[in-house]
Amino acid sequence: MTEVPKILLIYTGGTIGMIKDFETGALRNFNFGELLQHIPELKLLDCEIDTTSFETPIDSSNMNPAYWAQIVLLIEENYTDFDGFVVLHGSDTMSYTASALSFMLENLSKPVIFTGSQLPIGDLRTDAKENLITSIQIAALQEKGRSKITEVCLYFEYKLYRANRTTKINAEHFEAFASLNYPALVESGVHLQVNTSALYVPNRRKKFIAHTTMSNGIVLLKMFPGIDQSTIEHILGYKNLKGLILETYGSGNTTTEPWFTTALKEVIKKGIPVVNVTQCSGGSVAMGIYETSTALKKMGVISGKDCTTEAALTKLMYLLGREISTSSFKTLFETSLRGELS
Ligand code: ASP
Repeated sequence: MTEVPKILLIYTGGTIGMIKDFETGALRNFNFGELLQHIPELKLLDCEIDTTSFETPIDSSNMNPAYWAQIVLLIEENYTDFDGFVVLHGSDTMSYTASALSFMLENLSKPVIFTGSQLPIGDLRTDAKENLITSIQIAALQEKGRSKITEVCLYFEYKLYRANRTTKINAEHFEAFASLNYPALVESGVHLQVNTSALYVPNRRKKFIAHTTMSNGIVLLKMFPGIDQSTIEHILGYKNLKGLILETYGSGNTTTEPWFTTALKEVIKKGIPVVNVTQCSGGSVAMGIYETSTALKKMGVISGKDCTTEAALTKLMYLLGREISTSSFKTLFETSLRGELS
């Protein structure tokens, strides 16, 4: 008998495994093991499936780096025994967790696929079954006895994306995620169409490393017309500040008010990295095109290029959690580590 791929299903929480509370009508977590017994389709898949779950499943709005480390450790412990991993996660912060894991799992050569749903798996009109079944099928895809997908991905509504390129864009539609700066890796129709040229190419000779330390003290500052001097000085004066993400306008532009540039220069002078990402869902930061970004470029603000906010934020937490000198930090941040920027 030929061996079939082994997939580990990790349930962290989220709508996919929730049920409606009779009294309050609100969705709450439920025992996922029991729920899986109601999906007989799983037995028809050409792979062996094992499941594990967070002791107490959570709504992903309660996600945090300690939980990310918990998922990383689960994958590390089971890395050699399984061919692929499917992580069931609430959609609200799925792009953050999946982006974080793309950095925390170094030299990955197996698939880690995040999925969830907009409607619980027990609901008649649920999107959960397709998301779950296809994610498992994709995680089990093999070529010459090795996993076809070797990166952290997110599968939702017929599309597999590189995780660190995704953003949740809709709170109601089944098509809840987008990856505007990178094409889908797989499209599911009658056939699973793999976009082979877009897949991440791993260096299989390098040893898999699971990182669990992420830095705290990160501030995400979204610019808006009317943000004032005292607000900026208050935020940038935060004494435990270790890294700053600036969400700027268009191709990386901000106000040129001297109080703003002075406050930013103070932060950079202390050796604290400042990263520029755009508020636009698609496109890239290119400092220096407009006068309104020239000062940022000159003072040494790091370009997040076409990175999503989720990827920039988790990359900053990840890199600040490693021992990287201030002098090489900018170059490293502006280099693609896991295909997160072009
Ligand atoms: N609030 C839920 C969560 O993110 C929504 C979902 O699962 O899609 O956990």
